[in-house]
Amino acid sequence: MTATASVERTTHEVVPDAAWRDEVRRLAEQRNAVILAHNYQVPEIQDVADHTGDSLALSRIAAESDASTIVFCGVHFMAETAKILSPHKTVLIPDARAGCSLADSIDAEQLRAWKAEHPGAVVVSYVNTTAEVKAETDICCTSSNAVDVVRAIPAEQEILFCPDQFLGAHVRRETGRENLHVWAGECHVHAGINGPELAERAAANPDADLFIHPECGCATSALYLAGEGTVPAERVKILSTGGMLTAARATRARSVLVATEVGMLHQLRKAAPDVDFRAVNDRASCRFMKMITPGALLRSLREGVDEVHVDPEIAERARGAVRRMIEIGNPGGGE
Ligand code: SF4
Repeated sequence: MTATASVERTTHEVVPDAAWRDEVRRLAEQRNAVILAHNYQVPEIQDVADHTGDSLALSRIAAESDASTIVFCGVHFMAETAKILSPHKTVLIPDARAGCSLADSIDAEQLRAWKAEHPGAVVVSYVNTTAEVKAETDICCTSSNAVDVVRAIPAEQEILFCPDQFLGAHVRRETGRENLHVWAGECHVHAGINGPELAERAAANPDADLFIHPECGCATSALYLAGEGTVPAERVKILSTGGMLTAARATRARSVLVATEVGMLHQLRKAAPDVDFRAVNDRASCRFMKMITPGALLRSLREGVDEVHVDPEIAERARGAVRRMIEIGNPGGGE
């Protein structure tokens, strides 16, 4: 198939073949664009991108890049975060309908109402939030620095933590903090990875390490299992997606069970080809992430769509919360 034939197909029919890759790279160069792909993207998009990584690492790459256009292959809040950190660059997302059930768990109005119930509380929001929610936030956090961010806040200060209840439970357990209120939001993908499934898979694979993302509903169960001795504690690793890649390169285990979105397996297998990586739940696939198809990426580069805009006043306030996150602990490992 020629490149021309590829681009003439509708977005749903595009085959990610060599002609598609060449055309994507040609258009990116023509547009002076850098292509960023989240770890949960389909393998072909990860492979054609200039950089792959977690949401915050990619936003920082976007801010440092010389390219005038950022094509963000991920979900909408991630592209917004890139725009917040790079207000003068053009930020495109191949399909603006790619949302996030976790980011949708709380909107700015709900957060304002919650703040009114707890005057003086410090608001800590996970990076999976809209720009409007970030603008109402004191400090953003990622899964790898959430504990450090909370520890940096004076002990007597009340904290509102949103939107992920599992990450909130993890932070409360680690810090032992009673005055941390957690919003009852969740990601439909991570919540679907549960404790019984993890226990069953761990029992069937007694030599495997367990890599668990703290947004997974199974994180509490994993620690519980480790405490009981059902799974040796040294086999359980609670990691951000960036931390998983570092651990993959270092592990001595021949097999690893991975509890997060299945797209992560592609980078893990590339990082450590000799290790057998298996999903705890192979149905844990984010339909929003998978809306960024090869055809949508091609259309984005050809037509300069869908452009991401953030109101400058909201972006300014949101930027403060994101910058404070960067100043505390290790911020390089969001989802
Ligand atoms: S996996 Fe969950 S948290 Fe991540 S983008 Fe999809 S819905 Fe949002």
